[in-house]
Amino acid sequence: MKIAIVGTGYVGLVTGTCFAEIGVNVICVDTNGEKIEALKQGVIPIYENGLEEMVNRNAKAGRLQFTTSLESCLDEVDVIFSAVGTPPDEDGSADLSYVLEVARTIGRNMTKYVLVVTKSTVPVGTAGKVRATIQAELDKRGVRIEFDVASNPEFLKEGNAVADFMSPDRVVVGVESERAKQLMSKLYKPFLLNNFRVIFMDIPSAEMTKYAANSMLATRISFMNDIANLCELVGADVNMVRSGIGSDTRIGRKFLYPGIGYGGSCFPKDVKALIKTAEQNGYRMRVLQAVEEVNEKQKSVLFEKLQRHFSGDLQDKTIALWGLAFKPETDDMREAPSLILINKLLNAGCKVRVYDPAAMTECRRRIGDSVCYATDMYDAALDADALMLVTEWKEFRLPSWAVIKKAMRTPVLLDGRNIYEKKEIEELGFTYHCIGK
Ligand code: NAD
Repeated sequence: MKIAIVGTGYVGLVTGTCFAEIGVNVICVDTNGEKIEALKQGVIPIYENGLEEMVNRNAKAGRLQFTTSLESCLDEVDVIFSAVGTPPDEDGSADLSYVLEVARTIGRNMTKYVLVVTKSTVPVGTAGKVRATIQAELDKRGVRIEFDVASNPEFLKEGNAVADFMSPDRVVVGVESERAKQLMSKLYKPFLLNNFRVIFMDIPSAEMTKYAANSMLATRISFMNDIANLCELVGADVNMVRSGIGSDTRIGRKFLYPGIGYGGSCFPKDVKALIKTAEQNGYRMRVLQAVEEVNEKQKSVLFEKLQRHFSGDLQDKTIALWGLAFKPETDDMREAPSLILINKLLNAGCKVRVYDPAAMTECRRRIGDSVCYATDMYDAALDADALMLVTEWKEFRLPSWAVIKKAMRTPVLLDGRNIYEKKEIEELGFTYHCIGK
């Protein structure tokens, strides 16, 4: 089988490469010429564990190709996955311009049957718009060519994307014809053989499943942040509460970690888009509105603790930040809480020294030289009045505290992810602040 993947970002590149890995012939398409040129040279535009080696191996084997021209491959492929971005519009709804542009290109140039699968996260009803857009282009051309649309939302996690794609908890597929179902079954058969579930459903349900999943996860985070904030006020320890409730199998242990608010390219925009979809249908998502409100507030929590520690006077303080990416194992800084924190620190007159194992280039691209880029985690702590743990990369878990204490002006540690033991850190002579106790 031969397929095209349109959009060579986090989702598209991983999807294309993983399908190539299981023997499918894949053409990855992107309008960004620089990206495609780099990929042809074996240079991967994103940081994702295991991806580079897999891309190069499959490209060498001839199963993975790259092009900027979707038109040129339409005659060759049976299935087209659209994995272009769906950023938030000004009003919070999903911007479908890239998705519909892809549909227009397909409608203008297709000469035979294709199955058009939307992998991007899109609101309920988008498959209908994709179908109508393609049909309108065919009508303009005065030709009759059969095609199908389908929805196949992606659940991979950045930082673990390849493993998630190769061993998914489930694959959700929305279809409306037997032909589309057969094609998707064939494509995902290797996954079925490994006992992973492919759940077929109607298209609106598949589109909704992705938003419901991300909204549920965001809800758990905001719920725990709310509980953590209350724990501080009443003298409870959220870490204990977490293990207390997580051991209930109805609740489970995952996604119960309090912190400094969720960020990234998905949760904030998907929660907003679902609220908007509800609004457009005359309904209010009260729970999700609260989830957003708690999250906005939570992004300031670490800064407020710092302010309290220094009795409101942060002028000329040097603050070290460990971690910039919105989560570990990625260089993605879209909606990263670190950006808000840096902004607040700079506005308060602080000097900011930052270090992240993967996101330094991305940070420089976003905020330039307004902060000092340290060479490593120890260099970041140099002359710092306080150190803030923002992203819980593994390498920050067991640092040499003696070296850090010596490097810092005052040994103050603010742990935004609750990864350190309060007692242990205090015994080393640090003042320690964390979330929820
Ligand atoms: P991204 O911004 O990393 O990549 C999108 C790519 O599409 C870019 O390279 C862009 O140049 C390309 N593009 C835009 N218009 C195009 C066109 N007309 N033709 C060809 N290429 C075009 O985005 P992403 O993070 O991979 O996300 C893609 C979609 O998947 C979004 O809807 C997102 O919500 C969803 N999603 C993302 C994740 C994630 O972890 N990043 C997980 C699940 C779902």
